[in-house]
Amino acid sequence: MAVTASPDQQQALLDLQGLDTKLLQLKHKRAGSPEISQAQDLEVELGSIKMRLVAAKTETSDLKLNQLKAESDVEQVVARAKRDQDRLDAGAVSAAKELESLQHEIATLAKRQAELEDIELEIMQQYEDAQQAVIDLEADEIAITEKLAQVTQARDDAFADIDFESNSIIQQRTELSSGLPGDLIALYDKIRADHDGIGAALIHRGSCQGCHITIDAQEIDHIRNLAPDAIARCDQCRRILVRTSESGL
Ligand SMILES: [Zn+2]
Repeated sequence: MAVTASPDQQQALLDLQGLDTKLLQLKHKRAGSPEISQAQDLEVELGSIKMRLVAAKTETSDLKLNQLKAESDVEQVVARAKRDQDRLDAGAVSAAKELESLQHEIATLAKRQAELEDIELEIMQQYEDAQQAVIDLEADEIAITEKLAQVTQARDDAFADIDFESNSIIQQRTELSSGLPGDLIALYDKIRADHDGIGAALIHRGSCQGCHITIDAQEIDHIRNLAPDAIARCDQCRRILVRTSESGL
């Protein structure tokens, strides 16, 4: 059986459409909230900082070990040079060849000590740089975490406002649709689902306000002559066409 509805009910369908359009707009507004992408960007940034921080901390502890090793290398060379020097000072070595060998070793050790001290200094510098990198990254981590918390709060506040408004509209929609025939609502909802959220449109100045295509004169005549409770459909988009005093029929 064809769906029928009184002119008032058809007019109410346009009000329902108005509410549904608002709901759709709110849904898009929610999905398009700038804070969503801002929060995502900050989460990615924070993840990157945390990874770099782990790497920087690992580098710092590796360099610390290297530094201790370099210190111990220097100490060993210094200790050996001292031992040699003590032997020399004590006159423990008298044979010319042995003496020469010992002096040569002392000279070699002094050179080696200088080289190792250079290495130690370089590692100390690297260690300080790595420590600074950890400090900088920790500061970045704190700053980004705070910013993320602010953006998340702003996003949730925006969501709460939108959800509050949506819930109020959903309530109005429930009240309005409860006064309309079930088969009319079912038809309207089905068309709405298939046609970008618009199930019912006003005829205005000879065109469908759903697809904005001009309705030909013959079809206008047909609609004009329909029984008041008959449901008109757009020839082009199949949406429910609502005729009111504004339609100019
Ligand atoms: Zn249409």
